[in-house]
Amino acid sequence: MNVYFDDEHEMFRREYRRFVRQEITPIAAKVDAAGEFPLEVLRELGKMGYLCIQLPEQYGGSGADVMMLVIAAEEMAYASSGIDASLLVHSIIAVNPIFRFGSAKQREHYLPRAASGMSVGAIAMTEPDAGSDVASIRTSARRDGDSYVINGSKMFITNGTIADFVVVAARTGEPGYRGISLFIVDAGTPGFKVARRLDKLGWRASDTAELVFADCTVPADSLIGEEGRGFHYLMENLNLERIAMAADCLGLARAAIDQAKSYALGRRQFGQAIATFQDIRFMIVDMETRLRAAELLTYDAAWKLQMGEDCAMEASMARYVAGEMVNRVTGDAIQIHGGYGFMMESDVQRFYRDARVMTIGGGTSQIQKEVIARRLGLG
Ligand SMILES: Cc1cc2nc3c(=O)[nH]c(=O)nc-3n(C[C@H](O)[C@H](O)[C@H](O)COP(=O)(O)OP(=O)(O)OC[C@H]3O[C@@H](n4cnc5c(N)ncnc54)[C@H](O)[C@@H]3O)c2cc1C
Repeated sequence: MNVYFDDEHEMFRREYRRFVRQEITPIAAKVDAAGEFPLEVLRELGKMGYLCIQLPEQYGGSGADVMMLVIAAEEMAYASSGIDASLLVHSIIAVNPIFRFGSAKQREHYLPRAASGMSVGAIAMTEPDAGSDVASIRTSARRDGDSYVINGSKMFITNGTIADFVVVAARTGEPGYRGISLFIVDAGTPGFKVARRLDKLGWRASDTAELVFADCTVPADSLIGEEGRGFHYLMENLNLERIAMAADCLGLARAAIDQAKSYALGRRQFGQAIATFQDIRFMIVDMETRLRAAELLTYDAAWKLQMGEDCAMEASMARYVAGEMVNRVTGDAIQIHGGYGFMMESDVQRFYRDARVMTIGGGTSQIQKEVIARRLGLG
């Protein structure tokens, strides 16, 4: 319990944690080794009412606030950051632009299905030549009567091979951010295909793909909101996305610290528990302190977002610090496990691999620092 979470939040944490520890923890290593997202988990979460919880009840959500979303990300990532990645994309990042800017028809069609787990969502911004610089995307959408014709390719798309619908950023106008629009493209639309499924170092429990659009024709009412407003719609979602990713880092780091502590207390060398060696105990002290610092930044940013305050700098700070922290903490957890930590049978090696993307995906550490620098008035 702390100032950021009330009784309702804590009750949600207890219930969600019970579900995650019972259903996800036992399969986490297996799905990582298989390199496949367990779709049945998403369906089950949908049945339990744990998907898209931020949506109002009329669309199948429960009107959850930002702090609830933080809790859900922390708890899921404690068991599997890879599974959490797919869930974040589905439940928040793909669905929110439809909820916030979509037409009534789009909301009614896509949101209840996504919240119940009947359909899976993805969001496709990144391209082979446009990552951090989203405004430079080249995928085009040309108006043709009552349709748009989409051409281009998208890279590193989470849920790419399993998605039933993809929110696609495409250029409808001038170069730069003002020419970008968002479209909903259903799987199976002629001209839309998965080019390849991508193999990854970490987050192996999530699905990642390259997508191709070749004269992919969608009805004009697949456009989300207004033409040319797509970049703005994406940016509107960014603070929540950064906070949810930071929360994922917190859960993953907590799992690594719990394992490191328990190992350090049980492992004996030179006739004593390695936790009694100053170098090891201070390493754990550093891990815990770094985690606490990242927690406070994340909770503070989440709280500001919940209060409707401008939190762009705080969200980037949380994302930056948490991403760097979880890399350090999971690396130290391996060090404390010695050779056992280097073996594929350990959990900490998975944590370490999963942590690596946390300074890259959804905006690199360098981009977070650029956002912070601008907010500090550095031009
Ligand atoms: C596992 C995974 C899942 C992903 N899921 C999705 C998804 O679902 N949908 C989606 O659209 N995208 C997704 N992405 C893409 C992700 O958001 C991008 O990888 C990320 O934004 C970085 O883009 P990039 O990889 O092209 O790197 P680049 O932008 O090419 O960057 C390369 C390097 O240059 C640095 N750099 C770039 N610009 C600057 C600058 N201005 N100042 C200083 N340094 C800079 C970067 O920090 C980085 O170190 C995913 C990526 C991964 C790895």
